[in-house]
Amino acid sequence: MNIILLGAPGAGKGTQAEKICEILKIPTISTGNIIRAALKNGTEMGLKAKSFMDAGKLVPDEVVIGIIQERLSESDCKNGFILDGFPRTIPQAEALDAMGVEINKVIDIEVSDEDIVKRMSGRRVCEKCGASYHLEYKKPAKEGVCNLCTGTLVQRKDDHPDTVLSRLKVYHEETEPLKDYYEKQGKLTIVEGQHDIADTTAKVLKALED
Ligand code: AMP
Repeated sequence: MNIILLGAPGAGKGTQAEKICEILKIPTISTGNIIRAALKNGTEMGLKAKSFMDAGKLVPDEVVIGIIQERLSESDCKNGFILDGFPRTIPQAEALDAMGVEINKVIDIEVSDEDIVKRMSGRRVCEKCGASYHLEYKKPAKEGVCNLCTGTLVQRKDDHPDTVLSRLKVYHEETEPLKDYYEKQGKLTIVEGQHDIADTTAKVLKALED
């Protein structure tokens, strides 16, 4: 099954993607993670993306479309995949359609802006492997240390409060119209993601079965 997870930054797409990935045994493709890895490795694409990312803006469509095209051609995507953080604009969704990629389900995880701000200020990520934690909702076993690889947990630059507000603005202007786009294609299910992680996972899995 080819799945898109939509929702504001911090709505829990990454966490839900991890769960679906475990259950359906299909890879998660996160453009944010791919860009962060490129940045860490000092590639040209990573450096190009840095200023946009740090300012809470979207990286230009042609860059992320290129990333996705390359990634989806890899063999592990043959039996399905979960897109987390792509598409984020109408031209990106159109590019996916133009590539002939068939999407089966689009799940939109809805969380209020107020909660997004709260969640993102508490988010911490492992600087080594990228795993995500939260000071309140998803604590690591040992404070400040990644459960998976013992890397140090840090706050992403783009999770700082000012940047979060810019990211939310961009989300409402550029990404939210995708709900209409996929509703018209009959693929959209809206899932309320306001409560705890397990509750949202149950709703997401139910939406995938329907
Ligand atoms: P994320 O980890 O998905 O929140 O992405 C972090 C940042 O990476 C975003 O704020 C953008 O700057 C950039 N980014 C990730 N995915 C995309 C995309 N599909 N289109 C444009 N920019 C993206």
